[in-house]
Amino acid sequence: MNETWFDVPAGSEFGVANLPFGVYSRTEDGPRKIGVAIGDSVLDVAAIAAVEGEEFAPLLDAGVLNPLLAAGRPVWQQVRRRITTWLTDPAHRPMVLAHRLDRAGLHLHLPFDVADYVDFYASEHHARNVGSIFRPDSAPLHPNWIHLPIGYHGRAGTVVASGSPVTRPRGQRKQTGEDAPTFGPTRKLDIEAEVGFVVGSPSALGEPVPIERFADHVFGVCLVNDWSARDIQAWETVPLGPFLGKSFATSVSPWVVPLDALGHARVPSPPQDPAPQPYLAPGEDWGLDLTLEVRLNGHVISRPPFASMYWSAAQQLAHLTVNGASLRTGDLYASGTVSGAEPDERGSLLELTWDGTDPLLLGDGTHRTYLNDGDVVTIAASAPGSDGVRIGLGEVTGRVLPSKYQEERK
Ligand code: CA
Repeated sequence: MNETWFDVPAGSEFGVANLPFGVYSRTEDGPRKIGVAIGDSVLDVAAIAAVEGEEFAPLLDAGVLNPLLAAGRPVWQQVRRRITTWLTDPAHRPMVLAHRLDRAGLHLHLPFDVADYVDFYASEHHARNVGSIFRPDSAPLHPNWIHLPIGYHGRAGTVVASGSPVTRPRGQRKQTGEDAPTFGPTRKLDIEAEVGFVVGSPSALGEPVPIERFADHVFGVCLVNDWSARDIQAWETVPLGPFLGKSFATSVSPWVVPLDALGHARVPSPPQDPAPQPYLAPGEDWGLDLTLEVRLNGHVISRPPFASMYWSAAQQLAHLTVNGASLRTGDLYASGTVSGAEPDERGSLLELTWDGTDPLLLGDGTHRTYLNDGDVVTIAASAPGSDGVRIGLGEVTGRVLPSKYQEERK
C-alpha cells in the first residue's frame, strides 16, 4: 500500500487509495476547475500538472471532466499513477501544498456534462417489492426480468448536482381506487438510492461493446438519487415506461470514484438462473461491495447493499450497446434502486413504507410515508479498500421545495 505524506485524518474515506475527481469553484459563480479530493482537501490538479510539465495537463485544465473522460483508460491510469506519486513522494510536497484547498470552503458542481442517461432496474429485491406493491395479483417479476437488464432512457438535461433543490413536481395523478386522474402536486414524492456509472471512452455506432471491455469504457462511479413521483408514475407508465414521474430531477454526487480505486470492492454477482445469454455472460466479477446509507433529515432510514444487485454494471453496458447503440463521453447509467433482502435495506420509500401503508418512524418522533416539503434526503456510500481502509463515494443530497403550482394557486 502506498503511504502518503499528506495529512489525511484517521478514518477518512478520501485517502490516497481513493482519489476521486470532481469540479469545484471558490465562489458560487467563480471559474470551475477539476479537483481531486484527498482527506479534507481538494487539489488543484491542473495547476500541479502544469508545474510538473505533465503531458496530460491540458486534459485537467477544464471546467468539466469530459476531456479527461474522453482520453481513455491508459491516460486515466497514467494520471492516477502520477497523482499517487505526487502524494507519496515527499519531493512533491511543496508543490502540492501550494495548490491545496480546504474542501469545506468550496462549491462543488456537476462533475461532467451528461450526454445520455439510462436508468436500469437491477435489484431483484427491488423489482419483486415493486411488483408486489403495484401488481399484487400477478407474478412480482415480469418474465423478461431474469433474461435481460431492464432499463429506460431518461432525461440527461435534468441530471443535477448534489445540493440542488428539488421542486415538488405536478402532473396527472391517479391513485388506486380513484375513477379518474386529477392534476396537481405529487402526493407521493420518493427517492431511489442508486449507483451511477460514468462512461469515458465512446464507441462507434453499430458496434456493440463486449462485456469484457467494460473497464475500457467506464471511468468511474458516483451516487444517484432518482427522485420519483409515484402517483404520476403509476398513472403514466403503462405501456411505455417511466416519463414525467422521473424526469423532473435526478441528483448525482460531486465525486466520481475511478473504477481503479474499487479493486478491493469487486465481488461476484449473485448466482444467475437461467444462465444469461452469451453476450451477458459475466466473465470477470463486476459486482461491487458498496454499502449505501440513506438519511432523511439526518436520520438513517436504510442501508442498501449494492453487492446484492442481480445484474452487474458490466452486463448493463453490454446490454445497452448490444443493438449497436453507441456510447458518448459523459453517458451516465444508473443501477436501479438498490434494495437488499431485509426491510431496513430498501432503497425507496415506496418499499420502506409499502406505498405509505406502513409509515416510517424517524429518530425525531415524526412519521413519513412519502417526502414532505422541506425534507432533506442524503445518500452516502463506501466500499472496502486495502488494509481495512474505506473508499468513500461521498454523498448526494437534496432538499424538497414546495410545488410552484401551490404558489400560483394562492
Ligand atoms: Ca430508478
